[in-house]
Amino acid sequence: MIIITNGKIITPRDVLENHCVVIENGVIKQIVPDAQVPKPDDARVIDAGGAFVSPGFVDIHVHGAVGRDTMEGSVEALAEITKFHASGGTTALTPSLIGDTRERMTAALDAIQQAMDQKIGGARILGAHMEGPYVNRKQAGALPEHFIRDPNPEEYLPWLDREGLVTHMTLAPELPGAMELIDALMEREMVPCGGHTSATGDEIEAAVDRGLCHATHLFSAMSAVTKIGPIRVAGAVEAFLADDRTMVEVIADGKHLPPLMLRMTVNAKGVDNVCIITDATAGAGLPEGAEYTVGATRAVVHDGVGVLPNNTALAGSAATMMRVVRTMVEKAGVSMSDAVRMASLNPARVLSLAGRKGSLEPNKDADVVIFTPTFEVQTTIIGGRIEFQRA
Ligand SMILES: [Zn+2]
Repeated sequence: MIIITNGKIITPRDVLENHCVVIENGVIKQIVPDAQVPKPDDARVIDAGGAFVSPGFVDIHVHGAVGRDTMEGSVEALAEITKFHASGGTTALTPSLIGDTRERMTAALDAIQQAMDQKIGGARILGAHMEGPYVNRKQAGALPEHFIRDPNPEEYLPWLDREGLVTHMTLAPELPGAMELIDALMEREMVPCGGHTSATGDEIEAAVDRGLCHATHLFSAMSAVTKIGPIRVAGAVEAFLADDRTMVEVIADGKHLPPLMLRMTVNAKGVDNVCIITDATAGAGLPEGAEYTVGATRAVVHDGVGVLPNNTALAGSAATMMRVVRTMVEKAGVSMSDAVRMASLNPARVLSLAGRKGSLEPNKDADVVIFTPTFEVQTTIIGGRIEFQRA
């Protein structure tokens, strides 16, 4: 048994003081006032020292860390990535693939499968997010353009038919064959996400009618309102902001989007329909000036973010989930419990895992992060095991 005392406990609606969290057999047993805390002899007591006790963060869009990338197709790389992100408060994640050759994408999925089977430690892998290859070349951003292609069932069905592996896929709904791809994802209870898209608002709406329900990094690599002749035409951004059947995710590292746009997103969608993600690359955890690659593209860590060497685009972030929570609170003016909900419960809901992850409630997995008022992660507990402890 683990008992966490003396913390400010973040629940979906509130912050509780003078309560403790009791963990047993890998799950949260109860949250009780300090006066009622059980005191068995074998309990390990963690004194949070007045820090926040939060549900562990769930990152549904993350490519890498410490120089390692999901596309290496290596269990060892995934172990380093999950270990690093656990130190940033992430207790569960879905490694993100980018477009590559069919063989290399299959190898990346193989490695994720093996890592899930082997229980490699660090943040728990929940499955794979495929960011492409079926996206719009005009909205490639930092994705390698020559690997972008139209949906081909002969290629994607073998990926999707691997049970319990792909959790969600980012696609551009305007591509030929995209609607059939949405159908194939829906049939397998995988989440179709719109992103790297030039779709008009009407095209997004048609895709949402078909089952598209999530926006991949809203605003980034996505069409917005334009004028055709004298008439304004809505883009993907407006459709996702307006349609309450959709959830959106934002890269809340404080660099990709100005705080005003983070606030605008929360105001438009409501706190329950926004996820915050890192979109972290291999650059996360590397020092200023360090070089890494996105696909075959070189990028460099500059001022806490990844940029292409010609400075034309950001190349994913160098953030942790703790940093994106911090940005929402300190820069976007969101309350602590709302920011944490966007980092934990909402992404768990996207993956239909809110029954066992995403909040501190009895019978849920004991995925807990303890962090100071200055947003420094002290302890990360995953499934009742301490996976990270600041020295
Ligand atoms: Zn990404």
